[in-house]
Amino acid sequence: MRRRITSLRRLAAVLERPLAGIEQVPARLPLAITPYYASLIRRPDYDDPIFAQVVPQGAELRRFPHLFDDPLAEDEHMPVPGLVHRYPDRALLLATSTCASYCRHCNRQRVAGQRRAALSPARLQQVVAYLQEHPQVRDVIVSGGAPLTMSNARLESILAALRGVASVEILRLGTRVPVTLPMRITGKLVAMLRRYRPLWINTQFNHPREMTDLAAAACARLVDAGIPLGNQTVLLRGINDDPLLMERLCRTLVRHRVRPYYLFQCDLVQGVEHFRTPLARGLQILEHLRGRLGGLAIPTLAVDAAGGGGKIPLLPDYLVSREADRTLLRNWQGRLVEYPEPRE
Ligand SMILES: *Cc1c(COP(=O)(O)O)cnc(C)c1O
Repeated sequence: MRRRITSLRRLAAVLERPLAGIEQVPARLPLAITPYYASLIRRPDYDDPIFAQVVPQGAELRRFPHLFDDPLAEDEHMPVPGLVHRYPDRALLLATSTCASYCRHCNRQRVAGQRRAALSPARLQQVVAYLQEHPQVRDVIVSGGAPLTMSNARLESILAALRGVASVEILRLGTRVPVTLPMRITGKLVAMLRRYRPLWINTQFNHPREMTDLAAAACARLVDAGIPLGNQTVLLRGINDDPLLMERLCRTLVRHRVRPYYLFQCDLVQGVEHFRTPLARGLQILEHLRGRLGGLAIPTLAVDAAGGGGKIPLLPDYLVSREADRTLLRNWQGRLVEYPEPRE
């Protein structure tokens, strides 16, 4: 963390190429890349899927009327600061705004890297009080930022406070640290985390090249400790919006016991227009995966609705026609199959 690349000058030196015309970009979303993640770059240009995810580009400064600063209207759905409560049974806690590396496709660019969004002990007390008054919340997702950038002690104080709420059954962490800073997954950290089970972790591998030996070891450590791992990939134009590449990514994940959970369309956030893919592309990728991969390896394609409508799953049309007594379906090969409704 201390040796992260945070200036364009240093980045240009590390990559051994000039970086002109993007001087204004880090003022909007900070620049930070771990030396480890930078080491995965093979060719220092925007065709490289690692480079493109973390190196600023001029296109980020273009603003569009159909995009938002807070696309999921999270700030409006916080009953107490830092806690987004949108679904009846689960809530999302923004515990820190720090990440190990800042993804240029970030959907929380409005807070990323800003200290004011960190969770103070007083705010944590407010969150705990809210959860105690709302026992319908059984599942709390600790995200940010990346909660695994906090010290073990700070993270544990949050997990312990949440565990202290009797109605909270499941804890989840949302963090890209296994991908961008896998050496953070130490024996000590894992020993602490396993005390707060059932605890699930969702991470974000976007490209098979990110599953290095180090990342694989980090995942294995967590899973061996009884912490199931899921993955939330973001569809990114030119980076992973390809059926064969996505098949390879999903196979790689399952082989490392990481369950592909969501495949997200890019949120409608300012600064990511150049990364967005058409809905048809996501559906085409899903169509490709079905039949070629086992169900365990197939994520749910989802749009997180602008304005805070929640996640909406999308499927290719397997339902061809519907009548009162029978439904016509289509299998993964395109073959039509009839399903009669029950007679009674
Ligand atoms: C994504 C999200 C969740 C969790 O949704 P799951 O479908 O259960 O993974 C919960 N709350 C908010 C606000 C979210 O954005």
